[in-house]
Amino acid sequence: MLPFDFTSGAASSPRHLRSALLGIVAPLTLLAACTSVPLPPWVPAPPRPAASATPAPSTIQVEPAPGVQTSPVAPSSVIESAPAPYNDAVAARFPPPSMVYKTPGLQAGRTNFTTQDEIHNWLRDQAASLSRSVGAKAAVVFIGTSQQGQPLEALVLTRGSGTDPAALQATGRPTVLLVGQQHGDEPAASEALLVIARELAQGLLQPVLERINVVIVPRANPDGADRGEHATASGLDMNRDHLLLNTPEAQALARLARDYRPTVVLDAHEYMAIGPYLQKFGSLQKFDALLQYATTANLPEFLAKADEEWYRRPLLAALKGQGLSAEWYYTTSPDLADKKISMGGVQPDTGRNVDALKNSVSMLVETRGADLGRLHIQRRVHTHVTAITSVLGSTAQRASELGQLIPYIDKEVSAQACKGQSVVEAAMTPAQYDLLMLDPVTGADKTVTVDWNSALALQTLKSRVRPCGYWLSASSGTAVERLRLHGVQVLRVLEPGALLGDIYRETSRAGAVARDVRGTMANGPATFKTEVALMRGVIDAAPGSYYVPLNQPLANLAIAALEPDTHSSFFANRLLDSLASTARVMSEPSLKTEALP
Ligand SMILES: [Zn+2]
Repeated sequence: MLPFDFTSGAASSPRHLRSALLGIVAPLTLLAACTSVPLPPWVPAPPRPAASATPAPSTIQVEPAPGVQTSPVAPSSVIESAPAPYNDAVAARFPPPSMVYKTPGLQAGRTNFTTQDEIHNWLRDQAASLSRSVGAKAAVVFIGTSQQGQPLEALVLTRGSGTDPAALQATGRPTVLLVGQQHGDEPAASEALLVIARELAQGLLQPVLERINVVIVPRANPDGADRGEHATASGLDMNRDHLLLNTPEAQALARLARDYRPTVVLDAHEYMAIGPYLQKFGSLQKFDALLQYATTANLPEFLAKADEEWYRRPLLAALKGQGLSAEWYYTTSPDLADKKISMGGVQPDTGRNVDALKNSVSMLVETRGADLGRLHIQRRVHTHVTAITSVLGSTAQRASELGQLIPYIDKEVSAQACKGQSVVEAAMTPAQYDLLMLDPVTGADKTVTVDWNSALALQTLKSRVRPCGYWLSASSGTAVERLRLHGVQVLRVLEPGALLGDIYRETSRAGAVARDVRGTMANGPATFKTEVALMRGVIDAAPGSYYVPLNQPLANLAIAALEPDTHSSFFANRLLDSLASTARVMSEPSLKTEALP
C-alpha cells in the first residue's frame, strides 16, 4: 500500500515517485512550472478501516441499490437449488443478501440467465422510463455486432441535452462506463448491470445523474454468454484483445470509449471459487470480491492515486458495510504443479490496463462464482451492485476534482514527448503473501502462505528514451486503423521528408504462444518475441506514410502498441508487416502532413 501524500509530486518519473514514497514534500510551484493546468486539489483519503472498526460510510448517500426487490427473503425464493459443489458448512459462509434482485434471469423458476432479447427490452424500457423524467435523457445505442451477428448495445443515461458523445461532453460531467460479461461464463455482472440500469433510470441511483453520465454495456460478449463459454465465438479472449482489437467485441468497446471518453471504466467479472485451488491448496476461495485497478507501465502517477484513494478504498468500505469480503484480484495457472498466485497482469492488453493508457480511471471487480452456476447468485449480484454503486458514488462525489484531474493528466502525458524514459517492458514483483482461503470441510478461514506475484510494484525490464513520435510506412494501414479506433491521432505525410530517428534492427526472434498470468492462453494468437537493437539514422518519409506524434494524451497507448519487442505489440501480433515499417522519431519533425479525418 502506498502512503500517498499528494503534495509531493505529480510527475511520473521514478525520482518523483521515490520522493513521494519517502514523504519528501516538493513545492507545488515546481510542478506548476511544468504545466499551465493547475494541480487538482488532492483531498486526503480517510484512513483505511481497521479490521475491527465499524464500516466506514460509503462516499455517497445512496444505499447500495436494492434493485427491484423488496420482497422479504424466503430461502425458497432464491434460485439456489442446484446441488452445491461444496458442503453446507462452506455454503453457510455465503448467506443470501437481505434483498432479492429480480432481473429476468433471476426470476423464480428460471434455469437460464437473462437472454440477449430480454437485455435489449430491459434497456429499452429503462431508457423510455428515464426519458419521461424532466431534463433527463437515455437511449440504447448500437455499438457493434458480435462474431455471430448479435447486436452489441449500450445504455446511455444523462441529464445532458442528448445521448450522443458531444452532448455528454457538453455537460462537463464525468462519464462512467460500466462493462459486464466480457467473459460469457461470468453471468452475475450482467444481471447486476441490469439492476444498476433500472436504479439509475427509475430508482435510488437517479440522483447521481445530477453529477455524472453513465454508459452501460451489460453483456460485452453475447456469443460466449449464449454458450456459457469464457471466450468469444472464435475462441479469442476479448479481454486480452483491448490493445490489438482483433475481435469485433473489443473493437466495439474501443469505439465506445473513443467517442464517449469515459473518465472511469468499471469492468465486471467473476472468478473461480473452486477452480484449481482445491487441488493446489486443498482450499476453497473465500472472497466475495476481488479488486484491482490498472497496473501497467507508464501510467500517470496521479491516475494510480485516484484509483487507490478515490475508488478502491471507498469500494472496500462499501463492501464491508454490506458484510462482504474483498481482496486484491488474483489468479493461478491451471497447471497443478505451478502453485504461484499472480495478481492481474501488467501487460497492456486487458481492458483494465488499456483503459488507463487512455487516461481513464479503471477498476476490475470480480465476484466469487464463475464456476458456481446459479449458487449464491443473489449474493454475487449484490456484491457487484454494491461495488458499482460505490464507483458511481465516488465519481459523483469527486466530479469536480476529476474534471480537473483528467485534463491535467492529458497535458502531462502530452508534455513528455521527446523527454525522459518510457518503459517498454515491465514485470510483476515476486513476493510471499498470507492469503485467506476456506477449509473445504469446516468452512473456516485458513491462512495459506503463497508465492505471490505482485502487480503493485512493477520491475522495469526494458526502457528507452521517449521518442517525439513514431513513423509508420505507407503499408501500415491495419495498424493505423487500430490506433485510430483507440482515438490515437495519426497524421499522413503529404510531401517527401526526412526524419531523424532510430530504426529497429532485429537481433533475435523466438516463436511464442500468447501468455498471460495464468500461463499459455487457450486459443491465444500466434505471436513471437523479437529482440532489437536501435540504429540512429535518417528516415525517408514518403508521401502516404504516417506520423504518430507523442505529444498527445494517448501517447502511452501508442508506445505500448508500437515498440515492437514485446508480446503485446502490433508487430509481435502481425498488425505491422515488418520491422522496417516502424521507426522512432527522435526530434520534432518538420513534415507537411494532414490529420486523418
Ligand atoms: Zn472474466
